[in-house]
This record gives sequence, C-alpha cells and structure tokens, in this order.
Amino acid sequence: MSCRNIVLLGATGSIGRSACRVARDLPGRVRITGMSGFRNIDRLAAEANALRPEALAVPDGAAEAVLRAKLEYAPARIFHGEEGLATLAGWEGADTVLVAIVGTGGLQPTLAAIKAGKDIALASKEVLVVAGEIVMAQAAKHGCRILPVDSEHNAIFQCLEGRDPGQVKKLILTASGGPFRTWPADKLRMVTRDEALRHPTWRMGEKITIDSATLFNKGLEMIEARWLFGVGINRIDVVIHPQSIIHSMVEFIDGSVLAQMSHSDMRFPIQYALTWPDRIAGSLPPLEFAKLGRLDFEEPRCDDFPALDLARQAAERGGVVPAVLNAANEVAVAEFLAGRIAFPRIWEVVAAVMERTPDAGADSLEALLAADREARREAARLAA
Ligand code: NDP
Ligand code: MG
Repeated sequence: MSCRNIVLLGATGSIGRSACRVARDLPGRVRITGMSGFRNIDRLAAEANALRPEALAVPDGAAEAVLRAKLEYAPARIFHGEEGLATLAGWEGADTVLVAIVGTGGLQPTLAAIKAGKDIALASKEVLVVAGEIVMAQAAKHGCRILPVDSEHNAIFQCLEGRDPGQVKKLILTASGGPFRTWPADKLRMVTRDEALRHPTWRMGEKITIDSATLFNKGLEMIEARWLFGVGINRIDVVIHPQSIIHSMVEFIDGSVLAQMSHSDMRFPIQYALTWPDRIAGSLPPLEFAKLGRLDFEEPRCDDFPALDLARQAAERGGVVPAVLNAANEVAVAEFLAGRIAFPRIWEVVAAVMERTPDAGADSLEALLAADREARREAARLAA
C-alpha cells in the first residue's frame, strides 16, 4: 500500500486542520508535502512544525518573515501570493492536491493542479459551482480524478462505486436543516450572527456555517453534485435529516437505496478521499446504532428558505448564473457576518442579483470571472 503525497491548500481552516489530523493519524499512508495558509500564520507554523511539509505558500513576504520566525525546520520552498499558490498546487512532490480554500479563491489553484496532472481531493464546492464544466473537462483532458471531500458527495461517491450510471435513478442529498430548521418564518429577520454560527451538528468555518443556516450550502451542493456525477439537476433531491448520520443516498432504478453513514466528523470523508480506493483502519469511532436510537427525515421548507429553489433555477438556467448565485451569496454572507444586513437579506440579495443577470453562456473562464465580478458589485450595491 503506497503513501499518498498531498498538497493541502487551506491548511489553517476547519477542513485543513481535520486533514492534518488525518495525516498525523495515518503516517506512512498520507504525507503532507505542501501547505498553504492565508491570514492565520501562527496556525500554519504549528501544523507545518508537526508535519514538516517541504513547500509552503503564504500571501506575501511579510507573512513569510512571520512564518520563518516560528518554523522549527527549514522547508525547501516558501511561495508567495496567488501565483505562489498555483505553483504549490503543481508541486512536483505531490500526487494529490486537497483544495480546502473557502470561496472562489480555490478555483485558480485547482485548475493549476489539474494542468500539472494532480488528482484533486475537493472540499471547496464553490470551485464546481462557478466553473464545473471547465474544471471537469480539464480534469478529463489531463487524466485527473476529482475525489469529493464534501461529506454528501463523498457519501454518494461511495454509494456509486462499481455501479452502472444507467441504473441510477436519483441522488438524495441529506441536509441537517441548520439551526433554524424549526423556527417560524417571521422570526428569521431577528436572527443574530451568533445564532446563525451555532450549527447543530457540524463544526466548520464561518462562511459554510452561514450557508448551512440559509440552506445555500445545500443549494451549492446540488450544483456541485450535478458536475461531479454528471446527473441532471432534476434528478437531485434534498431531504432534511437533522442527526447528520446519513451523509447522502443513491436511489437505483429498482427502487433500492444505498446510504453512507458515519458520525458527523469531516475526518471520515477526508480520510476516504486521501486513501481511496483503500479503506484504512484509523482512530475514527464507528456508529453505535442502539445509542443513536432514531434517524429522522423531513421535507425542506422551500418557501421559508428559498436557497434550494434559487440553486435549482441557477442550475437550470446554466451558463454564468450559478457563478452569479455563488458570488452574490459570498458577498451577502460577508455583509451579514459584518452585521450590516439581516439574515433573510442574504437570499433576497442573491435572488435580486440573479434576476438582473441576463442569461449568457459560460464558454470561457474569463466570461465566468467577469460575471462573478459584476455579481459581487451588484450584491454589494444592493446590500448597502
Ligand atoms: P475555513 O474558513 O475554516 O478555512 C478557509 C481556509 O482558506 C483557511 O485555510 C484560510 O486561511 C484559507 N483562505 C481564505 N481565503 C483565502 C484566499 N483568498 N486565498 C488563499 N487561502 C484562503 O473554511 P472551511 O475549512 O470550513 O471550508 C473550506 C472549504 O471546504 C469551503 O469551500 C467549504 O464550503 C468546504 N467544506 C467545508 C466543510 C467543513 O466541515 N468545514 C464541509 C464540506 C465542505 P487562513 O485561515 O490562514 O486565513
Ligand atoms: Mg456538505
């Protein structure tokens, strides 16, 4: 069994830190040869000192100086800026790049890694929402695998293994429903930042935690699934499952459903993506069903949480519209976190920006990035 050499982009975030724990847990199987951080240089130094990657990437020379002062070893290279991140993504010492940068920042490094022939373990769903067609086409062209880290997609990936795609009827994404699953609609305007950041089942970065509260996370995941598995959006369903034990399901044409289950700990999907196709005994605890007692399922409240319908519309309209939804959402979430807009304004802003966007093809990365910039400007104007 070989050791997988990994470049970890976004090592200082929630996924990045879980990935570092997986690597510490599986020495000889998972080796981190490269790491990037952005603002949290202390954390980057701590993870680097523990795992000793040869190459690191930080935003600039000032960050490098801070990092060097904290490092207890001499890495072979420290790269700078966006270009440096792309160089790290193509680092010769790695065979797989785990992309765990929040938002659209992961897109260019993902494309750079694919061009360098690396397999991608993908946590950053925004990458596929913005440029799914281009990313999947480039991966096919360069013979790279895209291994899903997002727990739902990792679950579906596991359920689909060895199956004939022609026998798949639909994909069923599970959603926890977030902290406001049972709140009356008229209270949502009162939601505070702290309440929205208190996710019932997962500990994650701030942006995805807000996305889970609005259900935009699930909307983004529908679009992510559409590209990863080549399934039309009309064959992707969402069911609320508050315990987050079943991570997603696949229904086959004979009516049978396969589900993947584990505790809600991202080390499960990260480990599987990094050791695939093997399963490795590590320190992750199995489920004890009698202790779980029950698993519940509900319809999502689409009228009170319009994110799912907006994502479906974006996927149906196609072209630049999913990138526009994503960009407007990133801006609106940042505005909400800064205390400048009320919680329901997040989807109101996204809906308004989508409405103002004329349908246009997404035949180039430039066209997508231009639509992304325009959507950000429009969202910022509407949120002001
Ligand atoms: P965090 O906010 O915890 O971490 C984000 C990471 O990205 C940090 O390492 C941060 O560096 C880095 N970063 C931020 N902005 C930039 C930038 N402009 N350029 C380079 N690096 C940057 O996010 P999560 O770990 O929660 O999420 C990461 C991705 O994984 C997201 O796309 C999310 O949707 C996806 N995901 C996360 C899950 C989770 O459980 N957390 C589950 C499924 C998917 P620094 O901290 O040093 O500033
Ligand atoms: Mg997910």
